Amino acid sequence: MTVAWILREKGRNVVSALPSASVNDIVTMLAKNRIGAVVIADEQRQVQGIISERDIVRILATQGTAALHEPVREHMTRPVVTCTEQHSIDWLMEEMTARRFRHIPVAEQGRLAGIVSIGDVVKHRIARAESEAAQMRQYFVAG
Ligand code: AMP
Repeated sequence: MTVAWILREKGRNVVSALPSASVNDIVTMLAKNRIGAVVIADEQRQVQGIISERDIVRILATQGTAALHEPVREHMTRPVVTCTEQHSIDWLMEEMTARRFRHIPVAEQGRLAGIVSIGDVVKHRIARAESEAAQMRQYFVAG
C-alpha cells in the first residue's frame, strides 16, 4: 500500500503558511483547523519548513510570548522530511517512529501535494486489520 491510497481517501488539502507569517498566525491556524502541524511553503508551494504544536510549546517555554510576533521562518524546522505518492505506508511508519515526528508532507518536485499524519497511518492500519479479519471469517464460514 502506498501514500496514494491515503491521499485518495483524505484528499490533498494541506494547511500551509508563508515563511513571513507570524508564530501567532500559526497558533490561530492550528487551533482553528484542529491540526497538529502547519507546513511552511513559498508562493510557488515549494516546501520550506514545518512547525508543529510541539515547536510552539518549546518556543513559548524558552522565549516567552514575545516570539509570537516573530516570523515563523525563524522558528520552523528544516529541512523537512517529505515523501511522494509512491512511498509505502510501511516506510512512513518506520520514518515517523525512528525520527519521532507525526507528520510527513507529500511533495512532487518539491511542491506541496498533500500531508500524511500518524492518525492517517493508524486509521489505514486499523482498516487493513479489519478487512483481513473479515476475510478470515469468510474463509472459515465458506470452508
Ligand atoms: P510532530 O511530532 O509532528 O509534532 O513534530 C515533532 C518535531 O519534529 C517538531 O519539531 C516538528 O517541527 C518536527 N517535524 C515534524 N514533522 C517533520 C518532518 N516531516 N520533517 C522534519 N521535521 C518534522
